[in-house]
Amino acid sequence: NADTAMYQAKASGRNNYAFYDPEMTEKALYRLEVEENLREAIKHRQFVMHYQPQYDIAEGKITGFEALVRWQHPEKGMIPPIDFIPLAEDTGMIIHIGQQVMFDAMLAAVNWRKSGIIDQRIAINVSARQFQDERLLELVEDSLMATGCQPEWIELEITESLVLSDYDYAANVLSALQKMGITVSIDDFGTGYSSLAELKRMPIDKLKIDQSFVRNIPEEREDCEITRAIISMANSLGLDLIAEGVETEQQAQFMVENGCQKAQGYLYSKPLPEEEIIQLLGRSH
Ligand code: C2E
Ligand code: MG
Ligand code: MG
Ligand code: MG
Repeated sequence: NADTAMYQAKASGRNNYAFYDPEMTEKALYRLEVEENLREAIKHRQFVMHYQPQYDIAEGKITGFEALVRWQHPEKGMIPPIDFIPLAEDTGMIIHIGQQVMFDAMLAAVNWRKSGIIDQRIAINVSARQFQDERLLELVEDSLMATGCQPEWIELEITESLVLSDYDYAANVLSALQKMGITVSIDDFGTGYSSLAELKRMPIDKLKIDQSFVRNIPEEREDCEITRAIISMANSLGLDLIAEGVETEQQAQFMVENGCQKAQGYLYSKPLPEEEIIQLLGRSH
C-alpha cells in the first residue's frame, strides 16, 4: 500500500513528495474501489428496492409506501443508501441508479395493482443531481411509458433544501410534475427553514416532517414546538402531511393530537422487500 502511495506521489510530479499523506491516499484508493464496484453494480443491476408502509395513525391502515434503495453486493451483502448515495451523487452515477430505482418502483406499482391487493401510491426519492438534471421530466415520462405505470400511482420526494437552493427552477419542475398527475412531496421538511410565503407559492402536495424532530418527541420542548408549527403550516395550506421516523406510541399520539394524521416509522414497519409487502397486504385482506 505504501508502495502504491509512493508511486502515485512520484507519478503526480517530482516536487510532491513533501505532501505525501498516507491517510489521504488510503481514502482515495478506497473511493476508487467503491466507485469501480458501483459501476459494476449499475451494469449488473445489483440494486433492490425495499418499501416502507405509511399509515393512517387513527385507523391503522396503510395509505402509501416509500421506495428505499439498497445495494445487494455479491460479497458484502446489503449496503444501505448512506454508504453509497453520496459517492454516487459526487460522481454522477446517481443518474443511472435513479433511473433503475424509478423503473423498479413504477414496475412494482403496476404489479401491485395487477395483484389486486394494493392500490396505494409509491413514493420515490429524487436526489439533488437527478432533480437538477434537465432530463428528469423526460425520464419520468419514459419510465411511465415503459412500465405502464399511471402518474397517479406515484409520488416524488424532493428534499426541502433542494427546493430552496433554486426556487424558480424547482417551482417549474414541480409544477410540470403535478400537471402530469404526479404527487409532489417535500422530504426532510423543517430542516431548510422555508417560510410560509415560500411554501404557499410552491407547487407541492405533501410535507414529510423530518425525523430529526420526531426523534426527540416528547422530551425536547423545542422539537415539539417546531413539529406543531409545521403541522399548523401544512394544515393551513391544505397540504397532505406525514411524520417520518415514528418509533413510539407516544410520538404517534402526539402527531394525532396536534393534527398530523399520518406516520411512517419503525413503530409500524421497517422498509420491507417486495415479497413481504405483498404478504403483509394479502394478510390484512
Ligand atoms: P429518507 O428519504 O428521508 O428516508 C427515510 C429513512 O429513514 C430511510 O432510511 C428509512 O429506512 C429510515 N427510517 C424509517 N423509519 C424510521 C424510524 O422509525 N427510525 C429511524 N431511525 N429511521 C427510520 P434509508 O432507507 O437508510 O435511506 C436513507 C436516505 O437515503 C433516505 O432518506 C434518502 O434520502 C436516501 N435514499 C434512499 N433510497 C433512495 C433512492 O432510491 N434514491 C435516492 N436518491 N435517495 C434514496
Ligand atoms: Mg424520502
Ligand atoms: Mg426524509
Ligand atoms: Mg432523510
